[in-house]
Amino acid sequence: MQSASETASDPAIPRRRWRLGIGAHLALGLAAVAFVVLVGQLVADNITHTAAQAVRSLQLRYEPQARLAGAIIEKLAAFDRAVEESLGSETTSVEAQHSVQAALDAAAGDLNDALTVWFERMPRGASVPPEARNQQLLEQRIAAHVAAGRTLAGSSGARQQWLRERHELLEAEGRRITRAGGAGLAINDTAVVVARKSLMELSQAAAGLRSVADLGDAAARAEHEFAATLDRNDAELMHSPGAAWMEIVREDFNRSVSLRNQVNRFDASNARDRHDFLSAGSGLISDAQTLLQEPARQALSAAAQRAAQAATNAQRALVSTGIAVVVVVLLVSLLLALRISLPVRRLMVATRRLTAGERDVSARGGGSAEIAELAEAFNAMAAKISDAEADLRAHQAVLEQNVEDRTRALHHLAHHDPLTELPNRRQLTARLAAALAMAAHAERRCALLFVDLDNFKSVNDTLGHKFGDRVLQLVGLRLREALEPSAFIARLGGDEFTVLIEDAVSAEHVCEQAAKVIEALQKPLLVDGRQLSTSASIGATLYPDHARDADALLRTADVALFHAKDLGRNRFAMYTPELYDLAAHRFRLEQALRRAVEDGDLLLMYQPQIALHTLEPAGVEALLRWRKGDGRIASASEFIEIAEATGLMRELTTWALRSATATVKAWRAMGWHNASVAINVSAMQLLDGSFVDHVIEALSVTGLPGDALEIEITETVIQTAPATLAALQRLRALDVAVALDDFGTGYSSLASLAQLPINRVKLDRTLIEEIDHNPRSAAIARSVIALCHGLGLEVVAEGVERPGQLVLLGQCGPITVQGFLLAAPVEMQLTAQTAETAAARARTLLQAPADQAAQGTRAGDGSLLFVGAKARRRP
Ligand code: C2E
Ligand code: CA
Ligand code: CA
Repeated sequence: MQSASETASDPAIPRRRWRLGIGAHLALGLAAVAFVVLVGQLVADNITHTAAQAVRSLQLRYEPQARLAGAIIEKLAAFDRAVEESLGSETTSVEAQHSVQAALDAAAGDLNDALTVWFERMPRGASVPPEARNQQLLEQRIAAHVAAGRTLAGSSGARQQWLRERHELLEAEGRRITRAGGAGLAINDTAVVVARKSLMELSQAAAGLRSVADLGDAAARAEHEFAATLDRNDAELMHSPGAAWMEIVREDFNRSVSLRNQVNRFDASNARDRHDFLSAGSGLISDAQTLLQEPARQALSAAAQRAAQAATNAQRALVSTGIAVVVVVLLVSLLLALRISLPVRRLMVATRRLTAGERDVSARGGGSAEIAELAEAFNAMAAKISDAEADLRAHQAVLEQNVEDRTRALHHLAHHDPLTELPNRRQLTARLAAALAMAAHAERRCALLFVDLDNFKSVNDTLGHKFGDRVLQLVGLRLREALEPSAFIARLGGDEFTVLIEDAVSAEHVCEQAAKVIEALQKPLLVDGRQLSTSASIGATLYPDHARDADALLRTADVALFHAKDLGRNRFAMYTPELYDLAAHRFRLEQALRRAVEDGDLLLMYQPQIALHTLEPAGVEALLRWRKGDGRIASASEFIEIAEATGLMRELTTWALRSATATVKAWRAMGWHNASVAINVSAMQLLDGSFVDHVIEALSVTGLPGDALEIEITETVIQTAPATLAALQRLRALDVAVALDDFGTGYSSLASLAQLPINRVKLDRTLIEEIDHNPRSAAIARSVIALCHGLGLEVVAEGVERPGQLVLLGQCGPITVQGFLLAAPVEMQLTAQTAETAAARARTLLQAPADQAAQGTRAGDGSLLFVGAKARRRP
């Protein structure tokens, strides 16, 4: 892991340029948009605000003006209408005339008021603007117009007077004619006397005159009719109602005609004045519109136009703002795309390539600060992944190589014997199966050889396992050299080798090969600077002659090997069916032995030992016997091997321990107070931790002291586990005697004398066999005895058969002897007596050595000695 400070100071990493982050980019973009919107908004606002203000000020200024101008024009028109009404009024009533006049006054007052309001605001004086002067002129003209109107209305009042007078004249005429009888004369209020025709005609003409409203031609015709009626009836009327009446009638009639003509004349002149007045009025209205109303209207319309313009401008500003916003947004989007989207996309592509397995990818920098940083981090990561992958690949290659090596080694181990590197049982099994299949197919012979080293166990036991291993390795090489290359050699374990000859031409061919192996293994081996003579026994079998499958082949080869061993080792045996019978016999023997154990057919016989320096019995050795069905008693050597091979020995030893101690207890009870017994125990037995417990139990059961018991072991125990030695030490601690049996056979090592916690040594029969004939043997025996004595060990000589041996042994210091010369093994009831007899015999023999030397091998009790047992080593 690299710290931040390291990264900063690392020159390999480029200096980071100052960059904006994504947030800053977005903020900038949004700020730009906001700015544009704000500016647009401000501009539009400003435009509309200014326009609105201008319009408002124009409105404030020109709207009242327009209103006032409108009022003036309206009042002017109203005045003109009032004048016209007063001029057109045909009424003859005084009240109506007054109301017309009042209306005229009111209209003039209103007009005057409107003008006053208008011109109050106007600047007065010499330096007035031209339009103001025009307006003042207009004011004067209106004042003149009002005066003209009033004058016109005043003259119309005289006309009304004339009309009223004519009307009254015509009414009076009518009444006069009626009174004169124009309507008939009433008699007694019920009967009407028909009026005179003249009066009646005149009354009708007067009514016609009155009914004509128009003062034009119709009135002129009615006047003419009246005048004509008058003229036609003048005579009569002059008569009645009289001339005076006639004169009044004529006078009033003429006056009315004159009044009508006066009105008509007035009307003819007044029409022109009226027309002038009205046209002046409309001229004034038009001028007032032009001078007063029009500027205001124009100003308002200009204001409206300006407002419209301002609205348009504001709209334009808003549109511009919108466009600007769009442009800015586009620019911002472009900027974001360039600074964020594109670099991110590049990063994504690079990532995808990296995940797809490309390792030389690198992301280009650029864009926002985060993305640039991301790109740098990505590149660093890609580099690290690439490095890590390279490391991983290298590591994996090493690992794979290791696995391959290990697998090969394991396979080798699984199929080879690690010591000799030869194929193991597993490989042999496979190879054998294949070979048999091939041989069956090709109708060929196959041979299987079991090669077993003779006495290899002794080599192992005496010279150590390491030495033994070296011997096995060299034997493997010897086998390879001796056999033809096609031979398949395997080691099954221990000192057993197997040879498979797949193209065994004949039995002779196999015998040749076996002979070569025997010969090769007979040559001494040089191991760790030590020469070792070895030998091997070989059992061979043939397919298909002796067996047809792998198991049977292995079995028959084993039988043949057993036979070769049985023949005395260092030889070769080819399987024959008879050998199988022999093996079967062994099997039967084993079964019989097992039955014997169960049936209690085994017994112990005891062979007394005599101490030559005291010539007294010195304990007995318990020896196992089998009472056969025919009464014969079989010696241990006949079945001990099978008992050991089948694991029965353990049971037998425990039984022997109990039985022997019980016997000693019985002897002691009988008066043989110092009776003691030695029992034979194999090394394997001692390995079993419970053996010493059994001893303790046996002693406690019988109440015997430890020195009433002796355990005989062979020197093979020295090669076993430390547990064996510990067991022996425990025994010694119990005061149980421990004797080293069969000393002088095989590969006896002096080391065992020094290392084993023993207190006795039993010299093997072979060591003393020749001492009475062979001075060298005698010298060896003497030296060995002296050596043992020197080590503080008691010595027992076994297998003493001749007095000569006894005499010679008697001269070797304190020594105990055991052998047929003094006593053969006997049953427990006879043991005490046999021991006494044997002691007596020893005394006799040693006192008269010359006489004894002449005697044969007869036992003290005179019975024929049982000589079948041959000394052998317990495993
Ligand atoms: P071993 O321990 O060396 O026992 C002595 C053998 O020599 C006995 O044979 C005995 O009968 C025989 N013998 C004694 N005196 C003479 C003699 O003057 N001349 C000759 N030629 N032989 C003599 P046995 O009883 O047949 O025993 C054979 C071997 O079997 C014993 O050799 C011992 O190794 C083993 N054995 C016997 N009994 C037991 C037993 O209870 N347990 C164990 N583990 N092994 C036993
Ligand atoms: Ca013994
Ligand atoms: Ca012995």
